Amino acid sequence: MSLRLSEKWFRRALWLIAILFAFFLIRLGGLIVSDLPMIAPAPSLESFMDPREATRVKAAIALAQTAIRAANAALETENLQLQTKQHTYLNARDTFANWLATRSATDQASQNSELIIRTQALDNLKADEQASELIVANSQKDKLAASQNLTAAQTLYSQLLASSQKKWAVSQHHEELRVFGIRLSLTLPLLVLAGFLFSKNRKGKYWPFVWGFCGFALFTFFVELVPYIPSYGGYVRYGVGVLLVLVLGRYLIHALQTYLATQRIKEQLPEPERHKNVDYDLAQKRLTQGICPSCERPIKLNDASGNFCKDCGICLFDHCDHCHARKNAFAHFCHHCGEPGSVG
Ligand SMILES: [Zn+2]
Ligand SMILES: [Zn+2]
Repeated sequence: MSLRLSEKWFRRALWLIAILFAFFLIRLGGLIVSDLPMIAPAPSLESFMDPREATRVKAAIALAQTAIRAANAALETENLQLQTKQHTYLNARDTFANWLATRSATDQASQNSELIIRTQALDNLKADEQASELIVANSQKDKLAASQNLTAAQTLYSQLLASSQKKWAVSQHHEELRVFGIRLSLTLPLLVLAGFLFSKNRKGKYWPFVWGFCGFALFTFFVELVPYIPSYGGYVRYGVGVLLVLVLGRYLIHALQTYLATQRIKEQLPEPERHKNVDYDLAQKRLTQGICPSCERPIKLNDASGNFCKDCGICLFDHCDHCHARKNAFAHFCHHCGEPGSVG
């Protein structure tokens, strides 16, 4: 609390130091916490399945998929062959029909044996086509069976996954807890240390570092911890918040009581002693603000005849012993003639 210009600027610079100190501590702490090697990658859901059962079901799936692919490849060739045979039969039937038409027109009995041979050949072609149809049907049956096997194996696999889901969720929860515990065990002591430093050293010579450290600890606990808290972690954060507000509130209430008590004692002291107890810079500041430097109640500055505080009786203005000018009773020198004042 000083009116000296340089001291004011020094104090501002020291506040800047406090802020910078907090800023760099926060950055450094963030780096350290994010680089902690204790955080293992989360295990996959599949790692919680019975490995033998999982291997068996996976093999069954692969087998069924191979069977389907094989059946598809076979069906492609067989369908082509069937189509060729169907074409061949249809062509042969047309040729036969034409031949038959010509034959009935000429009606040659000598061609009866040829009719038998041609009919036989046509029947053979039809039989060949039917055999091919049978092969295609068999392949389709194989494919259907493989598809059913695949569906069954996949269902089994999803059942296995579902049964390991619970174990996986439990493990995830444990991991979250562990990580949160680590971070809490790093940040909570910082907060406690900050509280201790604040209560002991916040007005000491090195106050900018204390305030900077307190800012860092508060930020780390209430902001940096947030992304890592499990669902119920809010309880810890808000619980500590409530505790801090209680401690701070209790401190302020006590400070108010102490202030009022010391103020009452001060006001009962004889006037010259009270004059000496008032800080020089503070007195100058309070007087210009229109506040009594002793009891801190408002005073009227524009009343030139008012030399004393009406509330506590302290002398605010007196007259110079040398030139008798009315002057600030807390001033070290007379502003008019430069004579040293009575108050040191
Ligand atoms: Zn007063
Ligand atoms: Zn004077």
